[in-house]
Amino acid sequence: MHRIILMGPPASGKGTQSLRIQKLLGIPALSTGNLLRREVESGSELGAEVETYLNRGAYVPDALIMKMVAKWLEENVASGWLLDGFPRTLTQAQALENDSAFEAPTLAIALDVPKVVLEGRIIGRRECTECGATVSVQGGSDEKCPECGGELTSRADDDLENFRRRYTNYREQTQPLFDYYAAQGKLLAVDGVKSPDQVFAVIEQHLLS
Ligand SMILES: [Zn+2]
Repeated sequence: MHRIILMGPPASGKGTQSLRIQKLLGIPALSTGNLLRREVESGSELGAEVETYLNRGAYVPDALIMKMVAKWLEENVASGWLLDGFPRTLTQAQALENDSAFEAPTLAIALDVPKVVLEGRIIGRRECTECGATVSVQGGSDEKCPECGGELTSRADDDLENFRRRYTNYREQTQPLFDYYAAQGKLLAVDGVKSPDQVFAVIEQHLLS
């Protein structure tokens, strides 16, 4: 049974690797980012509370997150699972490990990408004004959407500011989990600078060996 934690800073390619791991193992995944966004969109009281944190680029408090994650884990206890964006803090990790309501993870994957590379990815990000696709540009400013040929716009300044806040939070709050999982022999650190295919090849080899 696979119970996997996927860790990595913003723009480290977690979303892509999460999808591939889900497909490889046939397990469901929970992205706490998506979970929170759905709650906000639902217009619930909880969602309104969550929104005040997200708007500041701050993390949602442990107790709030734990409640939402616990419910999802309970529903997926039989199949194993992958968690993307949880645990984010040592407190959350210890709860997941020790609380009798949860089953401990079997593997913690950490995608390692230097800050300067992540910033380059954020700066190169464009959004299509026609179809809304997110595109990363390598060439000049005349590049068009590869999906529909539409004009591309950049939100790089906003995105970069938001990225830096989240990155600092990640370094301070989530990176200590590397030691926590390493001490239990559960940590797989992967060089996330390589192509998505190369990154996945390392993860796949570990999972299937
Ligand atoms: Zn487009």
